[in-house]
Amino acid sequence: MAREVWTIGRLLQWTEQFFSEKGIESPRLDAEVLLAHLLSRERIHLYVHFDEPLEAAELSEFRELVKQRARRVPVAYLTGRREFMGLSFHVGSGVLIPRPDTEILVQTAIEELRTAPGATKFADLGTGSGAIALSVLHYVPDASSDATDISAEALAIAEKNAADLGLSERINLHEGDLLKPLAGQKYHAILSNPPYIPDADIPGLQPEVREHEPRIALAGGADGLDFYRRIAAGAKDFLLEGGFLAVEIGIHQADEVRRIVEENGLARAEIRRDLAGIDRVVIAWMQS
Ligand code: GLN
Repeated sequence: MAREVWTIGRLLQWTEQFFSEKGIESPRLDAEVLLAHLLSRERIHLYVHFDEPLEAAELSEFRELVKQRARRVPVAYLTGRREFMGLSFHVGSGVLIPRPDTEILVQTAIEELRTAPGATKFADLGTGSGAIALSVLHYVPDASSDATDISAEALAIAEKNAADLGLSERINLHEGDLLKPLAGQKYHAILSNPPYIPDADIPGLQPEVREHEPRIALAGGADGLDFYRRIAAGAKDFLLEGGFLAVEIGIHQADEVRRIVEENGLARAEIRRDLAGIDRVVIAWMQS
């Protein structure tokens, strides 16, 4: 049989079909992103070179990526990168992939910190890739940050991101649990996107999330609220007068999280919604 030539166009078509048979949500986009990544090109390159054949080595590397994607490895883990707040972050299987939902928390923090007088200092708990702390630092140029994570693997990725974004001087990364490594410090703000999925909901998550993203970044205990209780219990000791705690929350958690932060002495709790109209952030202040 004459060997058929695998051009870019044909390969994309085949891969799209294969991904869609595997139940992948955005088969065409994923095929394009992975092929562009493999060729170290922008996606637009693929469109103007549809008839170009791939080399054997490229084909076999691509086949490997396709195989992994079909096993539901998230695209961002295969390319090693994810865009968030207009910045590019390294990601790997040791960190949660930054979600667009979390931009609401970052925007809330940016607005509040920009109006605070003088240079501000904030903490980010469970920083993962560093996406939250580093994007706040990028958009609030006089701010500095302490970021903690219990995972050394996550901190290595956060450190790489800080260096690539030119922010290493303004962030200190600490290995440890939530506020624990920060004893004695005071902040204008404490930020966190903690694990908040109720344990019983984990089996119902998409395979990409359930099987490939770190469970310690997702599982929030029986009702999903364990981390809010622990963060809120400590927050007052770490906040300056007029400072605030802002946390991302999961679906239907707003009322409970508001109650938890108010019970722990924070005031004026407000809820911010995401673009889909879902309650996404709870922010509350230290009384002054
Ligand atoms: N938003 C994430 C998800 O639904 C969960 C993130 C978290 O637990 N902080 O997969």
